[in-house]
Amino acid sequence: MAQLTNTRPTAELQALDAAHHMHPFTHGAELGQKGARIITSADGCWLTDSEGNRILDGMAGLWCVNIGYGRQELVDSATRQMSELPFYNTFFQTSHLPAIQLAERLAQLAPGDLDHVFFASSGSEANDTNIRLVRTYWEMKGEPQRRAIISRWNAYHGSSVGSGSLGGMKGMHAQGGLPIPDIHHIDQPNWWSEGGEMSEHDFGIARARQLEEKILELGPENVAAFIAEPVQGAGGVIVPPESYWPEVSRIVKEYGILLIADEVICGFGRTGNWFGSQTVGIEPDIMTVAKGLSSGYLPIGGSIVSSDVASVIGGGEFNHGYTYSGHPVAAAVALENLRLLDEEGIVTRVREETGPYLKEKFESLAEHPMVGEAKIVGMMGSIALTPDKARRAAFKADAGTVGYLCRERCFANNLVMRHVGDRMIISPPLVISKEEIDALIARAWKSLDEAMVEAKENGLFEAA
Ligand SMILES: *Cc1c(COP(=O)(O)O)cnc(C)c1O
Repeated sequence: MAQLTNTRPTAELQALDAAHHMHPFTHGAELGQKGARIITSADGCWLTDSEGNRILDGMAGLWCVNIGYGRQELVDSATRQMSELPFYNTFFQTSHLPAIQLAERLAQLAPGDLDHVFFASSGSEANDTNIRLVRTYWEMKGEPQRRAIISRWNAYHGSSVGSGSLGGMKGMHAQGGLPIPDIHHIDQPNWWSEGGEMSEHDFGIARARQLEEKILELGPENVAAFIAEPVQGAGGVIVPPESYWPEVSRIVKEYGILLIADEVICGFGRTGNWFGSQTVGIEPDIMTVAKGLSSGYLPIGGSIVSSDVASVIGGGEFNHGYTYSGHPVAAAVALENLRLLDEEGIVTRVREETGPYLKEKFESLAEHPMVGEAKIVGMMGSIALTPDKARRAAFKADAGTVGYLCRERCFANNLVMRHVGDRMIISPPLVISKEEIDALIARAWKSLDEAMVEAKENGLFEAA
């Protein structure tokens, strides 16, 4: 078959890209100078670029290709559904087989009585839905003053106006007038950077208690919900201290506020269970899902809600929905993806076999002289770069200077490993083999060596 995407020289594609294509979270002029790396095909855990390089994808695309690239079953399910019914909506009392079956399957997989699904096409949309869901829930229960939603600094919940407000990315809030009213942020449980002299245990409790303090400050009767990722992803894979979530659970129960677990990354096997909530031991009222739901083959997301939330909302008309809520082709592909994850035992393998293997190898990166800590849950992990391990010191240079340098070395070594500030993160396809894990760690180590040399040569290896 003809390579549709590889028919023009790389330089020409880069020039066209720079001329017409605006990229998300990218400095446009800088990219224009440099030229984008152009990915042409992929298989398993490997990408191929327009120059023919084979690159190990340590990020599963953007935390989403859980099943790996190149699964013909997903292509076939899309083709079948496109022929049969490419689109119909789910508004105005209509439905269709893919949406029905996917909702049923998600209700089976989701813990507790999370039995109802409201579909969207992305995580951002689903979190926008959640803002309206939780406020409408309290309005319908006769407590309309409960509007406040508490979130965390450095959380990522999406990039729309609503979800970007929920998120705690200060750079995002700085552009375009975010956050919307009645969204409040508390500090994140990032012990390495912010824990000071405290033990991890005490720090976890202290950060959880900030939720209680915020609830009391706002007045418990005004608080609708708390939203958090079980393990923060885009914030740098921040694995909370073990003491954190039990204390948060106590607090949300005590004050009767809704808990939204944003499972967009943690869901569908990433942490070694179907959902991150199971891994960290929480019982949310709503879970946000997207990304791994379809392994990124088509855009789909949603909110999985408890019977209580569904029955309260169902008591009236919910004036909300997206044209593509429950899109039949996306739903069919998601269903097939869930079938493969289940029948091939991929989630179990992450929990019992490849996850523990990756953990052992990944944690050995902490022995590198530029690495302070290595933290990993299932198949999402991060390392903190530092010029001085003993002091858990940050670099004197702007946050992200050394991280960026390290990411560039990874790219040059044909490994996709992202940086968030000066943390390097991985989130590979869940189908990664032990041999591929060995390759990932070897390339990461080599890139760290090279980045450290480069940092030293450029006077960047200095503590703040
Ligand atoms: C990616 C992400 C989102 C946003 O999903 P989009 O599909 O990009 O809109 C929301 N929450 C979390 C935790 C994410 O990682």
